[in-house]
Amino acid sequence: MQIERFVLNAFSTNCYVLYDGGEAVVVDPGAESEKVLEFLERQQLRTVAIINTHGHCDHIAGNAWFKEQTKAPLAIHVADAPYLTDPLLNLGQQVRLEAAPLEADRLLQEGDEITFGSCTLQVLHTPGHTPGGICLYGHGILVSGDTLFRQSVGRWDFPGSDEQALFGSLRRLAQLPPETKVYPGHGFSTTIGRELEDNPFLSSL
Ligand SMILES: [Zn+2]
Ligand SMILES: [Zn+2]
Repeated sequence: MQIERFVLNAFSTNCYVLYDGGEAVVVDPGAESEKVLEFLERQQLRTVAIINTHGHCDHIAGNAWFKEQTKAPLAIHVADAPYLTDPLLNLGQQVRLEAAPLEADRLLQEGDEITFGSCTLQVLHTPGHTPGGICLYGHGILVSGDTLFRQSVGRWDFPGSDEQALFGSLRRLAQLPPETKVYPGHGFSTTIGRELEDNPFLSSL
């Protein structure tokens, strides 16, 4: 599996293209992006899914555009599905980043699988930052959304956030093999082991 990172929108949200064997998934298209589209075309990738790690506007604002361009189905955890069409929940109104309301084609749950090429990633339900936050796990990597960042964790003071649930999710992620490479929703990649060492939120679990 290969991973390409694009930094989109005013919130520097990471949009990842994960790809293998001519197929790709686009994770968190936080804006329309010709750059991402050109990459998909240049690599001759067929997009098989658009996946939102959670429903905040900075991760979903490009959904409608990417769906139009790639015809790929949109997937989000069932508990965050209401965020897709509610600018109060997805914070679009508050931060003035409008996400065209678009319903999901596939509602994800814990244990679901995302397959592209010969790769399969597992959906981990990691609530807390939002009720339906997910991480994608497999092949030695974790796409962690806004649950876990390099030296930080997601905020738990938004509508629908739950501090206890977030720390439960982080305890779960802390059990993953330390060499697991982490690709967060903002900022640079890291590993579980590195975060256990020097992320104050993880070392205090
Ligand atoms: Zn968020
Ligand atoms: Zn975010």
